[in-house]
This record gives sequence, C-alpha cells and structure tokens, in this order.
Amino acid sequence: TGKFFVGGNWKCNGTKDSISKLVSDLNAAKLEPDVDVVVAPPFVYIDQVKSSLADRVEISGQNSWVGKGGAFTGEISVEQLKDIGCKWVILGHSERRHIIGEDDKFIGKKAAYALNGGLGVIACIGELLEEREAGKTFDVCFQQLKAYADSVPSWDNIVIAYEPVWAIGTGKVATPQQAQEVHAALRDWLRKNVSGEIASKTRIIYGGSVNGGNSAELAKQEDIDGFLVGGASLKGPEFAIIVNSVT
Ligand code: 13P
Repeated sequence: TGKFFVGGNWKCNGTKDSISKLVSDLNAAKLEPDVDVVVAPPFVYIDQVKSSLADRVEISGQNSWVGKGGAFTGEISVEQLKDIGCKWVILGHSERRHIIGEDDKFIGKKAAYALNGGLGVIACIGELLEEREAGKTFDVCFQQLKAYADSVPSWDNIVIAYEPVWAIGTGKVATPQQAQEVHAALRDWLRKNVSGEIASKTRIIYGGSVNGGNSAELAKQEDIDGFLVGGASLKGPEFAIIVNSVT
C-alpha cells in the first residue's frame, strides 16, 4: 500500500520559540528513510518551519480555502500554501467539522480544489462516540468518504485519515483491532465504489491518541498505513519514535 505515512498535526499550538525547539529536535532525529513524514504547523509559522526544517520532512497546511483567493477574510488559499512551500493540506478534520461546522459537501469541494491546485490532501473522516455506540461507525465513515469520492478529480494524491472523534485528544486510543476493522472496511468501500487499484494503493492512516507507546502495535495491522498524530507530534523525540514504529 505504498510508503508508510506519518503526519504531525500541530493544530493551534506553539510559539516561535517552542517551534524552533521542535524543528531542531526533528532535524536531530533519525527518521526511517522509507517513511513519508509531513508536519502541519499553524499557518503563521509555516515560513519559519520551511526555512529551518530539513527538506526530508514535507509541510502541510491545516486547512485551505475552497476556491481561488480574494475577499475572504481570515482564509488561506491553496495557491498561497503552494507558494510558501506546502505539499499537503489536511481537510475535513473533526475539529473543523464539529467545532467550526464544515460539512461534507464543503469539504469535498475543498479537496477537489486543493488537488486540482497540486496539493496532496490528507482527507480526514471519523465517527463521534454516540455514533459508534449506536452502531453507525461504518455508515458515518462511508458517507464522509463518499463526499470526497463524489467530488475529487482523482485519488492519486489523497491519503485517508481515519480519526475516530472519541479518540482525538482523549488518551483513549482505538485498539489495533478497532482501527483495523474500520480501515479494512474503508478499503473495501474504495474497492467497490472507486476501483481495486485505488483501494490497494491508497494509504489509510489512523489518528487519535497515537503516541510512542502504542504506535508499534497499531502499525502492525494490515490496513494501517501510517498515522496522523496530534499531541505527541509536538514532542520531536516521541514523534520520531512514531515515525520509526513501522519497522
Ligand atoms: P491527538 O493525537 O492529540 O489525539 O490528535 C489526533 C488528531 O486529531 C490528529 O489530526
């Protein structure tokens, strides 16, 4: 399923000083060469990170505007992310869906615009606790995945991030079996609704309370192709352990 992929989503964290320390820790870390490593700093620090972080680590935006730039106060365009050196953008994160109120259709449009503009998309999906408890995990994830599928021009540059909302920032990581079950179902959905080729080559990464202690067991699961890491990505040495957990 392609290279193992580990993303660090720094969310709305950091200062110039703390980010300078994090970058030097990442630069000093030994990262397995056979892993794609991406970090997503807050927009205002992307330039600082781009100019100080080794090129071995790619940079992602945490969001992007749905179309061309212009009179959209507070937004950042795909063209601007490209201009400042980003290769990726995270879209559909649960915090944007559930705190800020972005919906499937809007997220699908953003994904299409970003892909057409030449960014890779880390396309997030995931169910709420009450949805899992009501037995709706697959329904919710398939619906969110379908919204991307209905909108994107191609799957070549997409990584799917399965992030159960109940596991994000809670310390309650999904068990390897829970994550594997959903990842396998997502791959099966791609096989039936997109193509066998896309299903086998699209990376499906897991996010939600991944840390240096639980990543190795998760990484052993057949359909887990990497991680999207929040809190633990703010600590360079721990993030490096997660990157290297594939071996
Ligand atoms: P945590 O690793 O802090 O649970 O966050 C996961 C996440 O939302 C990554 O996008």
